[in-house]
Amino acid sequence: MRMVEIIAAKRDGRPLTTAEIEWVVKHYTAGDIPDYQMAALAMAIVLRGMDDRETADLTIAMARSGDMLDLHDIAPLTVDKHSTGGVGDKTTLVVAPLVAAVGLPVAKMSGRGLGFSGGTIDKLESIPGFRTSLSTEEFRRAVHELGLVVAAQSGDLAPADKKLYALRDVTATVESIPLIAASVMSKKLASGADCIVLDVKYGRGAFMQTLDDARQLARTMVAIGHHAGRKVTAVLSSMQQPLGFAIGNALEVREAIAALRGSGPPDLVELSLVLGSELVRMAGLRDSVDAARLLLREALQSGAAWEKFRAMVVNQGGDPTVIDEPERLPTAPVQVAFPAPRSGFVTAIDGQALGMVVNALGGGRSRKEDTIDHAVGLVLHAKVGDHVTAGEPLLTVHAARQADVDQIAERIRLAYTIHDEPPPLLPLVEDIIREI
Ligand code: URA
Repeated sequence: MRMVEIIAAKRDGRPLTTAEIEWVVKHYTAGDIPDYQMAALAMAIVLRGMDDRETADLTIAMARSGDMLDLHDIAPLTVDKHSTGGVGDKTTLVVAPLVAAVGLPVAKMSGRGLGFSGGTIDKLESIPGFRTSLSTEEFRRAVHELGLVVAAQSGDLAPADKKLYALRDVTATVESIPLIAASVMSKKLASGADCIVLDVKYGRGAFMQTLDDARQLARTMVAIGHHAGRKVTAVLSSMQQPLGFAIGNALEVREAIAALRGSGPPDLVELSLVLGSELVRMAGLRDSVDAARLLLREALQSGAAWEKFRAMVVNQGGDPTVIDEPERLPTAPVQVAFPAPRSGFVTAIDGQALGMVVNALGGGRSRKEDTIDHAVGLVLHAKVGDHVTAGEPLLTVHAARQADVDQIAERIRLAYTIHDEPPPLLPLVEDIIREI
């Protein structure tokens, strides 16, 4: 087979055969297909799409590009959670320890920042010493001994996704239902969890801008998971504005710690309880989501979830004194409040624009080899529905230097919409898809 012909076929809208998809995944993983050809194919897929059979083939081929973990010898049942990506989305940092605290072993492989959205692995790496690159053996041991692990894809698990994910991040090829479905589900199938909750985000700060597209992505992933014999639920949640108040790696870790210690933003806590309750229900620990929510609330209030998070940080080499005193996390030298240009109600916040601002400040990558600045980001002071007065701070920019703040000021001004009338209230969770 020749890669150039496969790219041309997809460019012209022809479905790829199972054999072609397997060949591409095999040879890209092995390093025989260069990034420039894979980037061209990814762009053709973004523009031309893939049908359900192609998407399933791509997912299975990517899952099988490395080891497929079977964790049943160390835990009878493991759970996992994954988000399709959103601005300010630090939910994994709360949900994973929360459900682990009630006895569900969490075996989670996460990603780095992708496009305008942050990634859990980059966030965790803002904790000094925290190791996200674990061998398969270390991953298994953490599940066995602690019942909680959040790690980057090792070279052994779904390596095809690891390479393609980094490539998509810097080639504007993220926004595609088949590519996101295959990326998420290949990792989930390879890391061996029995019960998986997917947070499928829609809106301005998500890769799916409309609820219809998010629903289609959710259904595609739930179907792939069921087909592979896993229990999968997808929660359709709103990204019409960033989640919580913090955007940026260390700032988001601080906010997640606050949530685990009982003072998190209401939307982050609510979404964490919804996602966690689905896992508790699927795992059979409680037979209704209401009973599951009660159990999880108790684990949050008692401090059990926070203790579990702390134990995970210690287990993966992180410095616990830094999370005990989160002000010791990386902190940006320049912090500038950005004033509201007028008085009124905030009616919209463009999460995508703010995510790109954080990237421009150094919190994300523009090339695969870039290193990121964990300290930079934004802390919002006003969310949709809040009343603001002209001159009062809308948000605070955390930057490495004043010149960076000057460069992004106009983009921030455009990201907020302020009107005289309050906007209608937006639901945080639109729907939950359990069956197809
Ligand atoms: N999360 C992933 O793991 N992959 C994507 O493509 C998007 C979100």
